[in-house]
Amino acid sequence: MAVDKSKAAQFKHVSYLWDDGKIPADEVDNFIQRSNWLGADLRLTNYAGGNTSVKVKETDPLSGEPADVLWVKGSGGDLGTLTMGGCASLYLDKFYALEKLYKGKAHEDEMVGYLPHCTFNLNKTAASIDTPLHAFLPHKHVDHLHPDAIIALAACKDGEKVVADLFEGQLGWVPWQRPGFDLGLKLRECHQRNPKARGIVLGGHGLFTWGDTSKSCYENTLEVIEKAAHFLEERAKKVKFFGGKVRDSLPAERRRAQALQIMPVLRGLTSSVKKTIGHFRDDAPVLEFLESKDLEKLAATGTSCPDHFLRTKRCPVVLPLAPDADPTTEDARGKLEAQFAKYREDYAAYYERCKHPDSPALRPPDPVILLWPGVGLFSFAKDKQTSRVSAEFYVNAINVMRGAESCGGYVAISEQEAFNIEYWALEEAKLRRMPPEQALARRVALVTGSASGIGKAIAERLSKEGACVVIADLNLEAAEKTAQEINARTPERAVAVKADVTNGEAVAAAFGEAALAFGAVDLIVNNAGLSLSRSLAETSEKDWDLQYDVMPRGTFLVSREAAKQFERQKLGGDILIIASKNGVVAQPNNIAYGTAKAAQLHQIRLLAAELGPKGIRVNGINPDAVVKGSGIFASGWGADRAKTYGIKEDQLPAFYASRTLLNKEIEPADIANAAFVLAGPDLGKTTGQVLNVDGGLAPAFMR
Ligand SMILES: [Zn+2]
Repeated sequence: MAVDKSKAAQFKHVSYLWDDGKIPADEVDNFIQRSNWLGADLRLTNYAGGNTSVKVKETDPLSGEPADVLWVKGSGGDLGTLTMGGCASLYLDKFYALEKLYKGKAHEDEMVGYLPHCTFNLNKTAASIDTPLHAFLPHKHVDHLHPDAIIALAACKDGEKVVADLFEGQLGWVPWQRPGFDLGLKLRECHQRNPKARGIVLGGHGLFTWGDTSKSCYENTLEVIEKAAHFLEERAKKVKFFGGKVRDSLPAERRRAQALQIMPVLRGLTSSVKKTIGHFRDDAPVLEFLESKDLEKLAATGTSCPDHFLRTKRCPVVLPLAPDADPTTEDARGKLEAQFAKYREDYAAYYERCKHPDSPALRPPDPVILLWPGVGLFSFAKDKQTSRVSAEFYVNAINVMRGAESCGGYVAISEQEAFNIEYWALEEAKLRRMPPEQALARRVALVTGSASGIGKAIAERLSKEGACVVIADLNLEAAEKTAQEINARTPERAVAVKADVTNGEAVAAAFGEAALAFGAVDLIVNNAGLSLSRSLAETSEKDWDLQYDVMPRGTFLVSREAAKQFERQKLGGDILIIASKNGVVAQPNNIAYGTAKAAQLHQIRLLAAELGPKGIRVNGINPDAVVKGSGIFASGWGADRAKTYGIKEDQLPAFYASRTLLNKEIEPADIANAAFVLAGPDLGKTTGQVLNVDGGLAPAFMR
């Protein structure tokens, strides 16, 4: 069996994925499969938006009697990856009995507390606020989605009439109301008024559709959305989008160049309360909106679907810069600072205007979405996934505005309603349930030479502690592999960039990539290095230059570029330098490496002295030889050192350990631990410090 091609051909605006051959026999598994297919198409619903349900007979585990049970997607998660574990299950008779306890709209939030009492079979997944919406509709299978095409109709001036005309009365209409027990009752009433309806549009919000079988529900949902999308496409042919084009965008390369220049500035400006992580996109739907006449007007109107503005804030900022302006000048900075200050003021005023006596406290007032006409869309949020999804949601909002504008005009939900959702006690409770942020959350680290060895261990540790990491290495392929390994563990935490630390231009390019990926960096680990064990007579000028180029010069170039990016963000920063005990201890056959490390050691003190007033801390680590996982040892240094000490190469770890006071071998993870401690929150007042990680070597004691 495969997807029915003739059926699939009926859909142009959505993907028909139903495949009878892949349908599980179990009814609940079947509904999960349907949900996954729905969630796979962003035109059907936004990321993590919407929910689906099925009503089935289950056996009551206590009585052994049959029971009517509602399975419905729980709080959080995305339909595309929904599993049984993400679904709540409730006894329907217990749920319906709750109506007797309902005291009216003013008390509707109290009903949320009763939902856990309806749980079937001790299921731990919490029922979401949308649960009553599914329960009160009498159909076996129910889909609730946020398709841009339907929200466009639901957010246009005469939405109810447009929907009634287009669907010839087959879709009901319930005006905007925030989700909850009461909206569930309104859906039931609407359905009772129009029992033959195939679905209901929620004003300013989204769509409910249903069916007696999972397949008929799926096809009904797709047909309704396809019809709306087709209608909008036809309308679009007759009108100028957003009032027509009034400006050109820069070519792609120039947009990218402008974006990476401005991102550190924007990251700084959006981090007034807590640091943010950035995202940039400049695809066609974004540019079309930014080029349009109505940009300013529509941006100020605010977004509609609650899912959208919860992530994007009600309104974005339109940056007051020409597309080709240099965003790093004092003049540009002044304009941006004034605009962001105004945004924060306006946001605080909105809070004051709309707050209730029991509203949660004001949240960080920084904007999330920043639009630079001619260049693209920037988003800044607590982590990469959130900023990327926020940008995605703003594009959903653009699609909605475009559709609604072509059908008589876009109407956002009122400021007070938006506030009531944004500062809803239940939303606040959701935020409070989130686990505390990790020690290095909201930080961005760039680690040089981090495709392998000590650098890789450091990047892994920092990412495990919540930091985004830029794997900068001469070997891009290996760096990409390391980034993939990190992302497999902690998604959207790592990117790989090629970095030749001996070349100023290449270093600047690597920092540009980092800015484009995450906004900017605020933690640098100068780790790239190499060593050639040679006697004085055997050390060639090339040997000398190479080690000096990679280590003292590399650290200088990387730190200089870091300081420049830190300066644009104005958030301070951290520079770590991985030096070596060889910078302190004199041993034979080490003239170039030892002095290069000594130069790096002194850079720690010099840079700490110079950059301290800007809030930049500079610290270092002096490891003893790390043999395990070391590219340096594997590429000849190990053999040379073994010869110097008159032992076999595989005896080196034990040999090095035996020289230490603690008799311990030093491993990459030990250096990574030290990097975490120096960069972490506990040593925020320490700078110019060098931490020995050497198992205790008296000649290497710092003084
Ligand atoms: Zn919804």
